[in-house]
Amino acid sequence: MPELPDIELYRSHLERRFVGKALVGLRLASPFVLRTYEPKPEALVGKRLVAVERLGKRVVLAFEGELFLVVHLMISGRFRLRPAGTKPPGKVGLAAIDFPDHTVLLTEASSHKRASLHVLAGREALRAMDPGGLEPLEIDVKSFGARLLEGNHTLKRALTDPRHFSGIGNAYSDELLHRAKLSPIKVVSRLTDEEIVRLYEATRASLSEWRDRLLLESGDEFPETVTAFRPDMAVHGKHGQPCPACGTKVQRIRYANNEANYCPTCQTDGKLLADRALSRLLGKEWPKSLEELELYKEVRKTEPSASEPARGTPAPAPTEAKPARKRAAPTEAKPARKRAAPKAPVPTQPGGAEVTAGATSARPRASSSRPKRGA
Ligand SMILES: [Zn+2]
Repeated sequence: MPELPDIELYRSHLERRFVGKALVGLRLASPFVLRTYEPKPEALVGKRLVAVERLGKRVVLAFEGELFLVVHLMISGRFRLRPAGTKPPGKVGLAAIDFPDHTVLLTEASSHKRASLHVLAGREALRAMDPGGLEPLEIDVKSFGARLLEGNHTLKRALTDPRHFSGIGNAYSDELLHRAKLSPIKVVSRLTDEEIVRLYEATRASLSEWRDRLLLESGDEFPETVTAFRPDMAVHGKHGQPCPACGTKVQRIRYANNEANYCPTCQTDGKLLADRALSRLLGKEWPKSLEELELYKEVRKTEPSASEPARGTPAPAPTEAKPARKRAAPTEAKPARKRAAPKAPVPTQPGGAEVTAGATSARPRASSSRPKRGA
């Protein structure tokens, strides 16, 4: 889903091209894309565009006479700049926003059509659409901390809740949590003041650097490739690839249709967070540490049908810059398939509420760690 840096990129390009020009037409290729009845889209025709704004993850085309066209791209919605009068492409075309010299197509390359248009009259109607999230680049650390601590959620959820903060979604939350060296499932009430400041600074730095960088890279070209997966991201979409800071393989937690990527060395003291999908599959075998994970893979490779790994299999040499914090004793490091008695469950760790895989439930607190999808 396009997030703050991506939306700012679109906003800036639309603004510099079309402000001052009058709308020639609004063609809807799908009747479902428009979610409002009044005013009619024709009300916008002939009106000059006065500004392009961002409302959370929405792009707002502000026309004279306090008329607004609000575009929510959701996950797969994109803008395309085409010659004036271009028809919206068959399967993916949702609408065409016509200006005298160019047409902006709204497309959505997904079978789930979720992108939407709203035509609104008056600032009041626009304000009513605001989910209320604070602008992360416009607030001080005090307001950031206060909002973060509202409700007692995991960091991943607190950051991506559009009622908390504006424009942060799955991709940039992964990135800024990595930068702040904090676990995505740490519960906010466990944060120290120092960690809140660190997160605040990482949030601002990450979002503003990406915003500036995308703008710079696009130059005068209208952005055709807006994606949540960028090669230079540290952890988002990088599962299995080395963390740029320490070389440890990036891990993921999957839940519902979403996933969080993180570096165990940089963010969770080497602990692996339980992955709901995988832990259901593996049960108690879910490895708790990087060493166990490596060992587990070794054992699976050499004895794919073995019901129990050989006793005393030495842990493989630590790869990369692993935190070799407390090296697990050989007996512990073994991914015991038949664990005689579950060890004392450790659902919460001193430094935070990380749920490690060996914990009783073997899954991150499902209800509280699931970020809201959509915005
Ligand atoms: Zn790392």
